[in-house]
Amino acid sequence: MHVDGSPHKMSRLEEVGERDGWRCWICDEVVDPKISSNDRRGPSVDSLASDTKNAKKGRGKGDSAAGERLAHLGCNTKKGAIKAVIPWPSRLFVVDPAPLMGVADRLQRKGGREVVARCPSRSDADETTKWLLDRFSRLSPGLEVSAAVEPGGGQFMVALSVERRP
Ligand SMILES: [Zn+2]
Repeated sequence: MHVDGSPHKMSRLEEVGERDGWRCWICDEVVDPKISSNDRRGPSVDSLASDTKNAKKGRGKGDSAAGERLAHLGCNTKKGAIKAVIPWPSRLFVVDPAPLMGVADRLQRKGGREVVARCPSRSDADETTKWLLDRFSRLSPGLEVSAAVEPGGGQFMVALSVERRP
């Protein structure tokens, strides 16, 4: 029998994958939905413990999948057993890059401002700022992160901040 055109019920994975644009939330690379979910490069649903708590407090904007993110099976943090490490791209010239998962966590919980890296030149700092804002738009969707570059001690500090409106 021909079933083309019949309404297709989306699986959890498809739902989370569509929402995250088929990009892994940890390594930021494309996830191919056609690769077997038993393959390390295949798709899987990761869950964030802290986000799940926020969702329960009603801050998940009514999205039941708020605490769930698309990840490669090989990148998946196995239900929070492993702390996610968000890699910085090697093309960026940064000194003392901060662990971004911790930064995202704190900005989400408390807002405020954090210096996340130091760069030797203004153009490196600008590149870093551009990458960070783009990265955080997927890492912490819905969080309004702004970035600032501040010269100091012959270097350029890159800071991220989130303003909390009561
Ligand atoms: Zn990945």
